[in-house]
Amino acid sequence: MENSIKNITLLFSFFLMFSVVASDFDLEKTTGKPGLVDILVVGSGPAGLSAAIHGARARLKTVVVEGRMPGGQVANTAWIENFPGRYPKVSGPSLIKDLRTQAANFGAEFVRDVVEKIDFSSWPYRVQTEQGKVFHAMTAIVATGVSPERLGIPGESQFYNKGVSHCAIADGPQYKDREVVVIGGGDTAAQEVAQLANFARKVTVFVRSNKMRAAQISQEQLEDFPNVFMKYNATVKKIFGNGFGVTGLQFADNMSGRLYNFPTNGVFLAVGNKPNTDLLDGEILLDKEGYVVSKEITQETSIPGVFVAGDIISGRLKQVATAVGSGSQAGFDAVSFLVDRVGIMKRKNFDYLVCFCRRVSYSDIVKAVKGGSRTFAQLRNKLPVGSGCGCCRQKVMEILEKELKKLHKDG
Ligand code: NAP
Repeated sequence: MENSIKNITLLFSFFLMFSVVASDFDLEKTTGKPGLVDILVVGSGPAGLSAAIHGARARLKTVVVEGRMPGGQVANTAWIENFPGRYPKVSGPSLIKDLRTQAANFGAEFVRDVVEKIDFSSWPYRVQTEQGKVFHAMTAIVATGVSPERLGIPGESQFYNKGVSHCAIADGPQYKDREVVVIGGGDTAAQEVAQLANFARKVTVFVRSNKMRAAQISQEQLEDFPNVFMKYNATVKKIFGNGFGVTGLQFADNMSGRLYNFPTNGVFLAVGNKPNTDLLDGEILLDKEGYVVSKEITQETSIPGVFVAGDIISGRLKQVATAVGSGSQAGFDAVSFLVDRVGIMKRKNFDYLVCFCRRVSYSDIVKAVKGGSRTFAQLRNKLPVGSGCGCCRQKVMEILEKELKKLHKDG
């Protein structure tokens, strides 16, 4: 019942907005909504950045609110071996850097902040950040990813960052020639182990069942490290230490039920993830584990104009390549929504970047023509178009001709 009232209210807002758009008013002034954004992307991992590439490339105002950890978990991943086209492997930070540069060059804007609340009760959706910024988003793409799980065992919180860690890239170098433990048997654990084995004297992997669930190839790669040892059927029960940090852990042998102590200098947790969907709880349909339920084929959620991308989607493969795929689809879905349902291209002051390299926009050219530029050479005296990059020459000529025609027509 509550949801249908919400949807009726939203439909009414769409109707109002469509009338406004169709009659060519300045949307921001007319609605009195500050910070009006066509596509607001929440999250800056591979899914969010891919969505931003498609939104910005469609010349729509696309803003990415980057979140607490810009680049997401991939920014802390040493190597990705299964990202198509980046053979033999690509480092996480370099992949993120490339995606971000691509989105920025198409005109996406980035905000270093965290989205605190999205009000889905009226449209455009009001988005509030931790630092007090307010956006009004005509579409939102939620790509907030997942956060690493904790075990909830004694000593884990007490020694967090004092020997207990989730990130081998950041913390691994501290363990040069020391002994460490990795808990978990998935792909993340395999990556952490491979990273740590370069520094630590000995890496012991605690897997609670009788096998790892990481990809076979990743498991085989671990066999190449002489300093990696596996402990199957072993559940860690407690982490202990002293004023300087971790000194060991207690584990149960799941076959015998007996408890043992195991000395170690560091414990790396790789026991799965939980979705970062608190922002959406109660607003958007989630599954029982908190992942977002999306409609088949598209990235649509239960709320119109709100899309989802990446690891927070329920029941989908969680890989960087699929995050990029669902992010791209979400970007396209948001653009289609704005074009087909909102009629956004009819906006009078619709503006876009003509030269990505030199950041020259359509309205800059219009202004220069109004200011007396009549030829490409005259334009170049006022704007850095076609200087060096040359990518925009043809587009600039088309706009120039169009604007000159308009000028002659207007007399
Ligand atoms: P995961 O696949 O869910 O694996 C979690 C591991 O932690 C499992 O071995 C699980 O054991 C273990 N575990 C869970 N709770 C535990 C507990 N309380 N005590 C001990 N062990 C516990 O998580 P992930 O490795 O983080 O991977 C998440 C997703 O990201 C996967 O789909 C993965 O393929 C993907 N990923 C992809 C890449 C890449 O693109 N190359 C890299 C990393 C991750 P059980 O098996 O007994 O449940």
